[in-house]
Amino acid sequence: MNRVTVLNFDNLKIHLETVQADTILLRFDGEIHENFKSKQISIPKAASYVVNLSGLKSINSLGIREWSTFVAILCRNANVTLDECSVVFIDQANIVPQILAASKVTSFFAPYFCPQCNLELNCKLSTTTHRKRLQERRAPQIIHSCGAELQFDALEESFFAQADRLLGDK
Ligand SMILES: [Zn+2]
Repeated sequence: MNRVTVLNFDNLKIHLETVQADTILLRFDGEIHENFKSKQISIPKAASYVVNLSGLKSINSLGIREWSTFVAILCRNANVTLDECSVVFIDQANIVPQILAASKVTSFFAPYFCPQCNLELNCKLSTTTHRKRLQERRAPQIIHSCGAELQFDALEESFFAQADRLLGDK
């Protein structure tokens, strides 16, 4: 049976779950601010950690410092994968690449816009499936459920500035 622990830091919740004998899943939901105290977390030893950041809504400068220490320690003796990184996290990674530490990013969200539905939406991009376009720092083409092609809703050269790091090429 999977053991689930939920840690509460005010507006941040961290779900800890042992998914396989040697893999621990950590899901961050909320805001990484000064409320996040990485030293208060005792994480069981594992060979790999999968960190899901789809629920990360904001991260400020104090949070970045704390997070960077936290993820660097996690990377020291284990394989760390960042999964479903939110747009907020990628925006920060473009300014402060250290927040990625030695982790491997498998997927992340990017902002798109549907001109037909007049709708803003975040689409999940994969560092394997969309590898080629991302290497060129160009937004992968995505067709909306309505049939229209989505427009990328940020500056490609800015949003994909750290593409090499995200793809693990650097
Ligand atoms: Zn549409």
